[in-house]
Amino acid sequence: MGAADLKAISIYKFGGASVRDAPGIQNVASIVERYAQGRVILVVSAIGKSTNRLEQVVRFWFDGKRPEAAEQAGMLRDDHHRIIENLVEHPASRRKLMAGVEPYFSQLFGYLNEPAPPASSYNRLYDQVVGLGELMSSRILSDYLLTRGLENHWIDARECVVTNNTYRDARVDWDATRMAIKTLITDENRCMVVQGFIGRDVLSGDSTTLGREGSDYTAAIFAHCLDAGELTIWKDVPGVMDADPGRFPFARLISELPYDEAVEMTYYGASVIHPKTIKPLQNKGIRLRVRSFIRPDLPGTMIHAGAVSGRSSPYIIVKSPQALITVRTRDFSFVAEEHLSFIYTELYRLGIKVHLMQQTALSFRFCVDDDPFKVVPLLEALSPMLETEWEGGLDLWTLRHQSDRTEKGLLSGRKIILEQRATRLVQLVLK
Ligand code: ASP
Ligand code: MG
Repeated sequence: MGAADLKAISIYKFGGASVRDAPGIQNVASIVERYAQGRVILVVSAIGKSTNRLEQVVRFWFDGKRPEAAEQAGMLRDDHHRIIENLVEHPASRRKLMAGVEPYFSQLFGYLNEPAPPASSYNRLYDQVVGLGELMSSRILSDYLLTRGLENHWIDARECVVTNNTYRDARVDWDATRMAIKTLITDENRCMVVQGFIGRDVLSGDSTTLGREGSDYTAAIFAHCLDAGELTIWKDVPGVMDADPGRFPFARLISELPYDEAVEMTYYGASVIHPKTIKPLQNKGIRLRVRSFIRPDLPGTMIHAGAVSGRSSPYIIVKSPQALITVRTRDFSFVAEEHLSFIYTELYRLGIKVHLMQQTALSFRFCVDDDPFKVVPLLEALSPMLETEWEGGLDLWTLRHQSDRTEKGLLSGRKIILEQRATRLVQLVLK
């Protein structure tokens, strides 16, 4: 770690892929030793795909499949133990790291000894169980850094990130959170390790989560509350790309972006940063760097107020799979405000986000994530009042600053089901 200018605070966020095995965690430690300056807060996600695996445990438990739930939880514990064994050699260190994660595994198995809970408690119990992944990974990272002589303090995010009780998508109480986070800044706390994704509802005392992939957002919350100079999100890609390199071989790195452009990109589905991350940074002018933990020597992408507008840099974002829903009135009258207000009430009730909409006199069409657990209840809710039709398995493409020529080239062979054009922004629903 660099010189101790303790006024400068930087936040480093490491996602699950960066800590997915022992060499990954060692690499994280090397990055911190090499690049972190001044005071640093390390926000870490659960190891590898632990969050998905914990979700699976919860599913089995609720479905009354306790042996399967226990087996899955057992495999997760084995994997964490194997990582610890590969990470540190000294028996005393191993014992210390194992002891660090054990309370969370005991909690996990403790839940599974209980009979299957009622479906109504799903979201609440999901948050109690699924958030354990971050507690485990952060403990391992913190204890491992100590073995390398890197003094640090392990912080429980549930003591800092104060939320309401909207389980699985908890809202942050900013004033309470700011107060709690500020108390962390003491002379001793030069390096802190904290979990992404989790918080606590103070009224019930329950753990909460901020929504899947929410660790970026946690990092932004800490940056905002501490007026950090910079937040760095360390990823397995070189930075923010102008298209998904997996789909479009011509994809290139964007070296800098203004905040608004980054918000638009993540909103339309660029998965490199969580959509809620940018606003808390923009409001305080905190720079966001997206850098590669595989090639930390590369500069990555810098998102900041002074960046030249992306006018000259076109980009393509694909959201998939999408469902296009078309509604009409049953008596072929116009689709009017009363219908729209009914539709939006149901969308809000079911927590469904609309990515594109189009209204004509006789129909209203909108595009949402093609998630059967949401689309089916929505159609059921709308059908007493409206005629509904839907098509799934579609792509939503958002093209910004593209020319007609590149657009035509990209679309060859695809069928356009719906299109919408604004100045230098085209959105297409494709089959
Ligand atoms: N581990 C959580 C998830 O996978 C949070 C995160 O990775 O950002 O959703
Ligand atoms: Mg994760």
